[in-house]
Amino acid sequence: MIQKLSNKRLHLVVLIIVSAIGFGLGIYFGVAPSPKEDVSMQDLVPIDVEVEFPFQVKKNSTLFDTLLQLGFTGQDVHQLVQASKPHQNLNRILPTTRFALVDQNQDGKPEGLKFRFSAIDYLELTRTSTGAWVATPIQEKVETRMITFQGSVKSSLWESALEAQMDPALIVELTEIFAWQVDFNREVRQNDTWRLSVEQQVVKGHPAGWGRILAAEYMNDGRQYVGILFRHNGKDYGYFAPDGSSLRRMFLKSPMRFGRVSSRFSRNRFHPILKVGRPHLGVDYAAPVGTPIRTVGDGVVSFAGWSGGGGRVLKIRHNTTYETAYKHMSGFGPGIRVGARVSQGQIVGYVGSSGLSTGPHLHFEFYRNGSFVDPMSQKFPSSDPVPKELLPVFTGHVPVAVQTLPVGNSEATTGEREPSKN
Ligand SMILES: [Zn+2]
Repeated sequence: MIQKLSNKRLHLVVLIIVSAIGFGLGIYFGVAPSPKEDVSMQDLVPIDVEVEFPFQVKKNSTLFDTLLQLGFTGQDVHQLVQASKPHQNLNRILPTTRFALVDQNQDGKPEGLKFRFSAIDYLELTRTSTGAWVATPIQEKVETRMITFQGSVKSSLWESALEAQMDPALIVELTEIFAWQVDFNREVRQNDTWRLSVEQQVVKGHPAGWGRILAAEYMNDGRQYVGILFRHNGKDYGYFAPDGSSLRRMFLKSPMRFGRVSSRFSRNRFHPILKVGRPHLGVDYAAPVGTPIRTVGDGVVSFAGWSGGGGRVLKIRHNTTYETAYKHMSGFGPGIRVGARVSQGQIVGYVGSSGLSTGPHLHFEFYRNGSFVDPMSQKFPSSDPVPKELLPVFTGHVPVAVQTLPVGNSEATTGEREPSKN
């Protein structure tokens, strides 16, 4: 089964690749922003939608004009917009939204309408015998099947997804599963390999979106990372290593999704501006002004303001042991002020060159019990493992989940299998 990309999605892919090039990033870079907002398969329209939903709101027209041309009265349009309000605001309907007319009576006057909003959802509007309009949201029957992909990195992780004919949204999902193990900004290597099994949603035989990745493996520079999704009694516990330990860590491996390390932690370094030997007690990430900075862990803002050579500085206290600092920023993220609670991965600021700085970069510091430590050499505590009482269930599930992975080899291939029980 080969996943075809719609024009819209290809456009998005090109856009992201172009912006990545614009960012001037390294050859291994290929990771796009989170799929949750930016890349959604939910809006992939099944292939037969044009037959089922032959009409479209034209680009330079309104729903009102479009429906008048189809024989509806102004009163009809007003009423059906009102009837739809609890479900969809038809006044804000996007051009190119597809719809169909249903139940035309003898004089050719349509008695009903169907608006298609996604591969799964549509809204049905029917005129009752009294002339009033009733809106009913309908969900297509969604079937789930399992599909597998695998690939190996030649030029970039992103390219490896395309070579495997896989939706790049899934490679982004994979990088999020292993975000605590691998810094996909700087640790991806040529010949790294990956495998995954994922639920595909199917409506009337057509792909309609993705469910969860069931199992995934990433081989990074010879080290193997495996993530197994654990669901039990309708609850989704997330991803765990095969031994039941969590893949999540207290801290992300990088405060930047985009950026490269331009200067490492060092206790003895020649300072480029002060021209003296001075330690560099942090890690520098070079990136364009405005690049989002994420907090590496949950915490509370302990400082947000100007601090001499550091320029615009943010400090976050994570617990009694750990604190992080982010310097030279051009601005703070929304809601950032002293005392604000932040959660891991939240955008807390933007790259700048404020204070004593040679160019746009983030200077990132880690403190343990008040002293500087090198974040790259720390072993941080893990998050919660599989709950003890469920460990036997999880342990029994691991071989089943691992079995769903395609047989590993370095060639990118795809395969399809029967869904397995979870
Ligand atoms: Zn620095």
